Amino acid sequence: MMNKAITINHPYIIEIGDKARLCADITLEDKVNTLYFEVDNIYKDALCTERSDAFVSALLTTAMENSYDIICETPLSEQLYYQLTEYYMPIVSKHQPYVTEVKITAKLTSDKINSKNGVAVGASGGVDSFYSIIRHKDIDIEGRKITHLLFNNVCTLDNNDERIREWYNKKRKEIQIIADDFGLPLISMYTNMYSFYNFPYKTFSYFFAFTYAACVFALQNLISIYYQSAGFTLDDFDINTRNDAAYFDVFNLKCLSTESIVFYSAGTDKSRMEKVKFIADNRTVQKFLNVCPVEVSGNSNIKDNKINCGECPKCLRTLSELYALDKVDDFAESFSVEVFKRRTQHQLVKMYYLNSKAFSSDIINELKKQKKIKLTYYLWKCLYAPLYHIRSILKNYSVFRKLYYRLNIDILLYGFRNQSMYESYNKE
Ligand SMILES: [Zn+2]
Repeated sequence: MMNKAITINHPYIIEIGDKARLCADITLEDKVNTLYFEVDNIYKDALCTERSDAFVSALLTTAMENSYDIICETPLSEQLYYQLTEYYMPIVSKHQPYVTEVKITAKLTSDKINSKNGVAVGASGGVDSFYSIIRHKDIDIEGRKITHLLFNNVCTLDNNDERIREWYNKKRKEIQIIADDFGLPLISMYTNMYSFYNFPYKTFSYFFAFTYAACVFALQNLISIYYQSAGFTLDDFDINTRNDAAYFDVFNLKCLSTESIVFYSAGTDKSRMEKVKFIADNRTVQKFLNVCPVEVSGNSNIKDNKINCGECPKCLRTLSELYALDKVDDFAESFSVEVFKRRTQHQLVKMYYLNSKAFSSDIINELKKQKKIKLTYYLWKCLYAPLYHIRSILKNYSVFRKLYYRLNIDILLYGFRNQSMYESYNKE
C-alpha cells in the first residue's frame, strides 16, 4: 500500500505586529495546516525561505512515526537529503520502535546559503547549555566564537498553545537576563511544531535533535554553526536505547549537518559532574541556573520564589552534585536549599530513587569517595526501598495511575505536577 504524503508548500514570511514568521503550508490529504517559526522582527532577515530544510527537519519524525512520505515544493539541501535517506532513516528505523523509513521527494541543491556565518548555542538556563556557552563564549578560534544565543519552546512537552505561550513569554525574560549578563544577543523563537505530533508525545520529545535543528535551519540566513548541548557523553552512545534519542546525538547531528550549517554535539566529552564543576564558579550560573521542570509544565508548590524548587528529581540531582563540590551555598539565590541542607542524607536517598541509576550512581559514588555519605543515608534507604519499589510497579497500571493523581502522590513525592502528562492520563 502506498504511504500518504505530507506536502511542504513554498515557505514564506509574514509579519504580525513586531514579529516575523517563517511559514509553510503543510498539506496532508485535503487538510492544510501552517507550520511556523516566529521571531522578533529584527531577525526577519535571518529567516530562510530558499530551502525546505527547516520544515523537513521539523516534520521528519512525525512522518516516520505515521508513515507519511514527504514532498517539498522548495529545494532541499543535497547533503541533508543524502544523509537522511542513505544513513539516518535506514539505521534509526532499524534500531528504534515507532519509526519507519519514508520517501522524500524534493529538488536538491548543493549551493551554499549566503549566510552571515553566525555561531549559535541553545540557551535554556540548564547545566548542559551553560557549559556550552561558557566553553565557546571566549574560545580562541575566531570563527567558532558564539555570536547568538537561541531560545525556543521546543522543550515544553505540552500541547496547549495558550499554556506554552504563557510559559514561553515568562521564560524568555529570564533567558534575556542571562544573555544580557553574558553580553550576547538572544534570538527567541516560538514554533507550533508540536501541533504536528501525536499527543501524548512518543516521538516529539524523543528525537529532540531534529526538532531543535529545525529552529536553527529556519535561521539559515544568519547561522552557520550550532552547538547542540549534549546530555550524554560519547561513552553512553547507544543506538538501541529506549530512553532518549540524544544517546546517539553524535550520529543525529552528523546527519543534520549540511553545506551551509554544521551541528556539533557540544560537551559530549564531559560527564554531567565535570560540567557542573566547570560552570559552578560563574556568577551568572549561580544566579540563574535553572534545572527545575516545575515551571515547564507544572502546577507547583514552589517555595520562597526561587527558580528551582529544590525537591524534584532534577533539583535534587543538581543539589547533590553541588554538595559533592561544596558549592550548595553559592546557589542559594537560585535554589531552595534549606531542606537539602537540613536533611542532606534524607534528600540524597530521594535523589537516588527519583533519578535513573545512570545519573544517581555516579553522584553517590563520588560522595562515598569524599566520605559524605553517612549512616543515616543507609537507614533512610532501608525505609524507602520498599516504597519506591511498590511505586515503580503501580505506575504501570492505569487504575493505580488515576489513584496516584487523585491522591496527589506526584505532588507529595516530587513537589510538582507534570500538567500535560496529568491531562493525557485523565483522557484515557
Ligand atoms: Zn525542582
